[in-house]
Amino acid sequence: MERSKHQFATSGSSSSSRGGSIGRIKCNCGRDAVVRLVKTGPNVGLKFHGCPLWPDTDCGFFKWIGGVRDEVDDLWFQLFEKETTIAELEIHKKMLEDKVKRVQLKKENLEEDLQELKGETSQLRIELMKSARNERNFSLALILSWVLFGIVIMSMM
Ligand SMILES: [Zn+2]
Repeated sequence: MERSKHQFATSGSSSSSRGGSIGRIKCNCGRDAVVRLVKTGPNVGLKFHGCPLWPDTDCGFFKWIGGVRDEVDDLWFQLFEKETTIAELEIHKKMLEDKVKRVQLKKENLEEDLQELKGETSQLRIELMKSARNERNFSLALILSWVLFGIVIMSMM
């Protein structure tokens, strides 16, 4: 996706710079562009096509001559693209790390829940055993009371 976009941008800019020869380049307002020379800044000495009315116009037409600028732009574009990819990867990595953290937290919570559940289960088992024992004691006491009652009845007869 990114790759094809980049290729399109590259072929688009280089074909348009090769397409029109000098003198036939029209500016944005339809006039024949004139060749100008950069006098200041990092691009000093480079030539470009500009609007003949510049700077007294809103035309803003601007095109470097010689394709040098295209290559530089392309390099900048590649660099930017690479930086973007790195940034995207870092964001992706960060998201994955967050996800891992979340999953770990979830796992810890689950383990805690499980531990709690285990505790509850063993507690329940103990209580169940206790109540079972109580029940047995109760039935034993009931039987004993009946036996005693029987003995009392027998002795009275
Ligand atoms: Zn113009």
